[in-house]
Amino acid sequence: MTSDPQANLWRASAQERIDTARLSGDAATDLLVVGGGFTGCSAALEAARAGASVTLLEANTIGHGGSGRNVGLVNAGLWLAPDDVLAAAGQTDGTRLLTELGQGPQAVYDIIAREGIDCEATRNGTLHLAHAPSGLRDLENRYRQGNRTGAPLQLLDAAETARRTGSTAFHGALFDPRAGTIQPLAYARGLARAAMRAGARVHEGSAVTAIAHSDGVWRVRANGHEIRARALLLATNAYCEAITGAPLPRFVPVSFSQFATAPLPEEQRARILPGGEGCWDTAMVMSSLRIDAAGRLIVGGIGNAEGAGGKIHASWARRKLRALYPELGALPFEHVWRGSIAMTSDHIPKAVAFGPNALSIFGYSGRGIAPGTVFGRAAATALLNGTPEALPLPPIQTYTERFTVLREAYYELGAALTHATRSRG
Ligand SMILES: Cc1cc2nc3c(=O)[nH]c(=O)nc-3n(C[C@H](O)[C@H](O)[C@H](O)COP(=O)(O)OP(=O)(O)OC[C@H]3O[C@@H](n4cnc5c(N)ncnc54)[C@H](O)[C@@H]3O)c2cc1C
Repeated sequence: MTSDPQANLWRASAQERIDTARLSGDAATDLLVVGGGFTGCSAALEAARAGASVTLLEANTIGHGGSGRNVGLVNAGLWLAPDDVLAAAGQTDGTRLLTELGQGPQAVYDIIAREGIDCEATRNGTLHLAHAPSGLRDLENRYRQGNRTGAPLQLLDAAETARRTGSTAFHGALFDPRAGTIQPLAYARGLARAAMRAGARVHEGSAVTAIAHSDGVWRVRANGHEIRARALLLATNAYCEAITGAPLPRFVPVSFSQFATAPLPEEQRARILPGGEGCWDTAMVMSSLRIDAAGRLIVGGIGNAEGAGGKIHASWARRKLRALYPELGALPFEHVWRGSIAMTSDHIPKAVAFGPNALSIFGYSGRGIAPGTVFGRAAATALLNGTPEALPLPPIQTYTERFTVLREAYYELGAALTHATRSRG
């Protein structure tokens, strides 16, 4: 078993590989993108396809952040129920956001097909699982709200949910046929590879340390060199490394950890999630469940498996596995890793226009595969054409969050207490 975040399951199994060099000289570019996750790579791909010169600088490696650590559920919309999105973003902006992110999975699977990205892409829908009767009421509300806004959702009863999951632990489920699963790190690398093929210059190992705007251009420092850019996109989300002159993306970092078994034996593979849907549940301290291409069952939950509560979360994952699938109780976890989610107070992503031709996009609040792809693509268009209306949400000038350290500790403590006391996982 490994808990090395650099050796998580996605790193071990990604078929996509890319080869980049560190930034080693001064340059000029139309669009400079900071951060090589879904947002940055999608923006670079879009800009290069539009014929612009684009340079992407990544401090570590492509997919180092949330994009290489997540569950891989390509969800439509946001984590919030549609009515809550409308309440938080307003009727007009919220409706547009729901529409664009509702089409997000289609955008992701179209790019995967067009660019031939080898990322275990399956599009068999997702199941939002009712962990309790109260969870089923939540799903009934989401079902009504979703269908009103055009989402083709289906509410499943407990028996159908048991047939699809192979577990009798759930009270029902909301099935979303628009969604699916991917190998997230392979998708991020595939986006970067496609961007490079379209002409983007991508440099890993190139942390941006300072930015400044003068004489109508952005001057961006990395590895002791300067890049001059007409437009600038900061796409660093929860993994931001400090940049002098840039506003910090503001959010509450929330840990989420995953535990992947060895590949399931054939007999159990045929019974457990036979349709390959990706799942998450309605519990306040949420958990996730999915299968990868090799047949590994991956259990996830809020909490930091690498922190002080690591043993509590590991023991919870074992109990959870046993509670869902008693016959798998002894199957070892071969990979354990964690990631940091950038949570905003209203769970809505933020596009901050912090200077001339400059955007910082962050705060996906745990929903970044399709939203990151959509926002990144739109950001490239908005910045290159001077059309902020291309963004799914109007940009704001500044954004702040209060008591982030305290709230991070609160989330972790809540997850550890829940995981310590929940007897059946
Ligand atoms: C554990 C976990 C599970 C999740 N599950 C899902 C899921 O199932 N479905 C879903 O839709 N979303 C999920 N998410 C959310 C999703 O992964 C993120 O929203 C998404 O990856 C954000 O992408 P990004 O490109 O904006 O940022 P990131 O992928 O975090 O990329 C930011 C990059 O910027 C780089 N960087 C930072 N500072 C600098 C600098 N100064 N110079 C250069 N580079 C820099 C970092 O190294 C990093 O690679 C999950 C997130 C986590 C953590």
